Amino acid sequence: MALTQAAERAALNKIIDYLEEDPEKNIDTIMTLVDKFVPEHVLPSQRRAFDTAIRERNNWYRLMMRIFDLNPEVRTKLLKTLIVDCSVLAWPYQEKMREKHQCNIPYAILLDPTSACNLRCTGCWAAEYGHALNLSFEDIDSIICQGKELGCHIYIYTGGEPLVRKDDLIRLCEKHQDCAFLCFTNATLIDEAFCQEMIRVGNFVPAISAEGDEGTTDARRGKGTYAKIERAMDLLRENGLPFGISCCWTRENADAVATEANMDWMIEKGALFCWYFHYMPVGASSPASLMPTPEQRERMYHFVRDMRSKKELFTMDFQNDGEFVGGCIAGGRRYLHINAAGDVEPCVFIHYSNVNIHDVTLLEALKSPLFMKYYENQPFNDNHLRPCPMLENPYELGRLVAESGAHGTDLVEPETPEDLRRKTVAGAAAWAPVAEKIWNDENDPMHAKRLEGMKQGMAETDLEKFERLGHFGDCQNKK
Ligand code: SF4
Repeated sequence: MALTQAAERAALNKIIDYLEEDPEKNIDTIMTLVDKFVPEHVLPSQRRAFDTAIRERNNWYRLMMRIFDLNPEVRTKLLKTLIVDCSVLAWPYQEKMREKHQCNIPYAILLDPTSACNLRCTGCWAAEYGHALNLSFEDIDSIICQGKELGCHIYIYTGGEPLVRKDDLIRLCEKHQDCAFLCFTNATLIDEAFCQEMIRVGNFVPAISAEGDEGTTDARRGKGTYAKIERAMDLLRENGLPFGISCCWTRENADAVATEANMDWMIEKGALFCWYFHYMPVGASSPASLMPTPEQRERMYHFVRDMRSKKELFTMDFQNDGEFVGGCIAGGRRYLHINAAGDVEPCVFIHYSNVNIHDVTLLEALKSPLFMKYYENQPFNDNHLRPCPMLENPYELGRLVAESGAHGTDLVEPETPEDLRRKTVAGAAAWAPVAEKIWNDENDPMHAKRLEGMKQGMAETDLEKFERLGHFGDCQNKK
């Protein structure tokens, strides 16, 4: 770390210590201190959001105060890691690397430590494996070391059930104290001993899958699972540990999971965030019939925005919030995915690749043909309610895969991009007019920003890239 960066880190950590002394009193002056030490161009929209929350004492302020109810040691550690190491210091470095290498550099890396799972949920591919695939401790450690060289300090575990490997995951937290680790988990392996380990390392945050009531959960995941999930949440809350909830919404459950009562339950259980994921019909036997209808998706759009304006919970909707991040974030633009076999995929839902992390460096993977196709073609639509080259622009994925010569990497049910497109094309056509209507709605609070053009959610290097490649303001908008 350069001396100036070390000095900046020390100054920012001091600001967090100051806030910790008396959060309710000191929070009013915190943004003045941040403005003094952090250059104006670093994370400007996030800073504005913090500033508004503090001034208005709104639901986001209440969420901040909920964070101050966490175990003090974990809270201080996590705030410093997430805000200072993973964001304020990391972002400008990532931008430098994007400029230097002329390719996408991720903000976060998703990886599957294992394909194994301790549950056998109906419809889940993890149950289909004859034997487990694993990334070794050394594999993951090497990915993290290489990622940090590029400025990436956030690592997110998917799977399989990552906590099958909990000892290795804790060792990685210990070794990389300047990184934050998020873990999608079924929560059934979280016990008191693991909570104590989480307290000790202070940089591990579970995102618990919770998609239904007791009857629905137990029917799909096995009897007693719902009780175990609730017990895990209670343990985390009683220990003052941060966690969130992840929820996949389908045509069958969309109306049941997106309710205010469900949000209140999450807050009461102690969750700090809820991330909704649109069902993706990926894998040969995943049916298109579970894809939410355009009406359900439109309702979800309004529901999540409504909840975000009043609940003390950080709610995100991965298919409807594209405009805050400039559209598709895959291919390393903000994230990438490495499966348990080591295949480096653009996205957790896009199972095609040219490279395996056992054969190439992380930077070589970012410069591999499919990743460069993402780099050159993002955004895939100028309406960020239609961001995806697979889901809403279904002809795009086949083109990217064909032009890059990528091969299928689905570990259980490989399918061609054409087979996948046959499942998504009707849904994409049905969603397009609804997406256009919402996007052009003059009463939508985001309307004025949308009129400003494609800058919303874009990095400086995204804008420079558009200039260089000559497609800014003229993105694909595939029908
Ligand atoms: S490929 Fe599709 S699902 Fe993946 S990040 Fe891009 S828009 Fe989202």
